[in-house]
Amino acid sequence: MAFEGLSTRLQNVFGKLKGRGKVSEDDVNEAMREVRLALLEADVNFKVVKDFIAKVKERAIGQEVVKSFTPGMVIIDIVNKELTELMGGEQAKLAKSNKPPTVILMAGLQGAGKTTLTGKLAKMLQTQKHKPLLVAGDIYRPAAIKQLEVLGGQIGVPVFTLGDQVSPVEIAKQGVKRAKDEGYDYVLIDTAGRLQIDEELMQEIKDIHSAVEPDEVLLVVDAMTGQEAVNVAKSFHEQLALTGVVLTKLDGDTRGGAALSVKAVTGCPIKFASTGEKIDQLEAFHPDRMASRILGMGDMLSLIEKAQSNIDADKAKELERKMRTAEFSFYDFLEQMEQVRNMGPLEQLLDMMPGMGKLKSNPNFKIDEKQIKRTEAVAKSMTHAEKLKPDIINFSRRKRIAAGSGTTVADVNRLLKQFEDMKKMMKQFSGMMGPNGKPKGGM
Ligand code: GDP
Repeated sequence: MAFEGLSTRLQNVFGKLKGRGKVSEDDVNEAMREVRLALLEADVNFKVVKDFIAKVKERAIGQEVVKSFTPGMVIIDIVNKELTELMGGEQAKLAKSNKPPTVILMAGLQGAGKTTLTGKLAKMLQTQKHKPLLVAGDIYRPAAIKQLEVLGGQIGVPVFTLGDQVSPVEIAKQGVKRAKDEGYDYVLIDTAGRLQIDEELMQEIKDIHSAVEPDEVLLVVDAMTGQEAVNVAKSFHEQLALTGVVLTKLDGDTRGGAALSVKAVTGCPIKFASTGEKIDQLEAFHPDRMASRILGMGDMLSLIEKAQSNIDADKAKELERKMRTAEFSFYDFLEQMEQVRNMGPLEQLLDMMPGMGKLKSNPNFKIDEKQIKRTEAVAKSMTHAEKLKPDIINFSRRKRIAAGSGTTVADVNRLLKQFEDMKKMMKQFSGMMGPNGKPKGGM
């Protein structure tokens, strides 16, 4: 994931301080020197690093870290707060006009992920019960209109297009009018990008801007390009009043410099983070959660939100009841796997759990997605009766299941053993619980 190097380095620096009851001023200075290097290596803007370290030092002195009984924790807390501040402090929300439709203009270089983002944002708005309209304003890149239409088609959001022979200013104007006439509450206008910033591109988007007076101008930048992304943001912001930045490709191994510098350099908040090519891989950007992720403190809030939006509450309740009564079959097992899978790649989920970042940096640690698929294949090859009552699975059935799932009898044995262990654990657990699922004894 993004920030991996930075995250590991910072955790090492703080690991050294954490267990200690007392630190000297020299220790603090040494730690700050290492934080500084870690940030520079993560490609954070030089001036931003300088200011950041100065602020952390000032606070550390103010809070008299050296006199504290838990100096390591105090420093981590200060760094956490300053990192949050650096990325903008509060979460910056998407604009919402009180005279709908809210008009959102997308800007950015070619390949940054504008068109993809336009589709993703529409999907996010749709799940929030809004009614978005997409406008295909990129008439230069061959296939950009088609790409937007495919994205819109996937999520059932209409795309307004006038082909590639009408000027983008006219397309934008008519698109907004269409939205107004037909009761859409958001209009997302995709625009053309170029390989570099040039006069013509800027003029065109400025013209669109004056024609439709957007409520939100989102600059889409590729986080993988590091400082270049920050420079692009700066030039765009100087010419076009941006209201927010969207960082894309945060799923790649970007060092994170862009995320940490862009707000400080441009004054423009990061509103969203895009973390993959799939249409639902878009997250609202929360500076505090991102800071905790970087510091290896996890991001349980995002994980819970992800779970809530992907896991069917009724099914989860039913599963919980079955676990309590130990009436758990392979059907439930498969369903549970499916629900977890819906939440996204396991690697990304692990990044949100406290301490997992560190585990992942261990070269011996790897998530074996293949193994997970094998497990699933074994469970799926069982008959209805076997899924309900795994006790009946004798040796000949094991051989059949192994053959049917393209695995071995050892794989089948392993899963059956795991399943038995799980059931035993649930029995013990349910023994500790009262009938309503709450711990016995008024705990
Ligand atoms: P545009 O020229 O700015 O409209 O860029 P596109 O939307 O066509 O995206 C360029 C490429 O980047 C496409 O292959 C996208 O699938 C890919 N892409 C966009 N956003 C992300 C992201 O968050 N993560 C990854 N890994 N790829 C992305």
